[in-house]
Amino acid sequence: MGEGESRVRARVIDGKAVAAAVRERVRAEVAEYAETAGRAPVLATVLVGEDPASQIYIRNKREACEEVGMGSRHHGLDAGTSEDDLLALVAELGAADDVDGILVQLPVPDQIDPDAVVAAIDPGKDVDGLTPLNAGLLAHGAPGLVPCTPAGVMELLRHEEVDLEGAEAVVVGRSKLVGVPVARLLLAANATVTVCHSRTRDLPAACRRADVLVAAVGVPRLLGADAVKPGAVVIDVGMNRTEDGLCGDVDYEAAAEVAAAITPVPGGVGPMTIAMLLVNTLAAARARV
Ligand code: NAP
Repeated sequence: MGEGESRVRARVIDGKAVAAAVRERVRAEVAEYAETAGRAPVLATVLVGEDPASQIYIRNKREACEEVGMGSRHHGLDAGTSEDDLLALVAELGAADDVDGILVQLPVPDQIDPDAVVAAIDPGKDVDGLTPLNAGLLAHGAPGLVPCTPAGVMELLRHEEVDLEGAEAVVVGRSKLVGVPVARLLLAANATVTVCHSRTRDLPAACRRADVLVAAVGVPRLLGADAVKPGAVVIDVGMNRTEDGLCGDVDYEAAAEVAAAITPVPGGVGPMTIAMLLVNTLAAARARV
């Protein structure tokens, strides 16, 4: 046995493989849907301006649609587009019979209020799950369309067969996009949920209670081995660009010595987000029939 091999290392949760399985399932279901509905589901994407990262995200999302046999149509708007013009487009897409999902890529330029745009999306076509109606349904424990990254976190936990019933779950981060919806979904799965944030006192102590630890912070390697209970399942949503490349909110090497299972960054939660967008677009299409 070589040096270091006697240590117990966490199982690596392979988000790429789980996402590929989800996409495969969606592809089969899209084919079935198209046969009955007479057309494939269609996702409309909207991008205001030319932010290079946003352009890549949009391209990836449209390619993912194509790979599973869904249609997509893109609306690229000038960076100077007014809020009224964007709202008019969002309304037009909401009324369009041949559009099942609407995705407005955030962030939007300063002259546009992102909350106003999100609120204007037809909740039935809100494949990002961010409209007040869908957030409210989630809060009531009767989810409509669920935000993609949180849905991806839950899909990974399901795939790993993590028993959430009565488990201690700690979520670090309370954003509308990730932290809060993940916490709601864990609560709906009967976990005992603690939500930590920037004002939490003694963050490592709070995290050490977790059987399931979800980090959605945006601070590179914030959580070390002292924040991980031995045998915990660690889901790292963080995607932080650093001088040595992309890393998560968890110190992967240190945490992997303590945890039972852990998601890598990249290759963990990241690939799940687009896969769940496809799931949502299909669900939105089915709900309209
Ligand atoms: P966000 O809106 O900036 O929220 C960050 C949260 O972390 C806030 O609730 C904040 O607390 C909390 N926080 C910040 N510093 C903290 C600290 N030192 N200790 C404890 N809590 C702290 O970010 P987000 O949109 O939720 O995204 C979080 C991370 O996930 C980012 O790295 C982002 O890139 C990544 N992400 C990944 C995907 C994916 O597909 N994998 C998708 C979305 C986001 P306060 O509320 O008190 O300020």
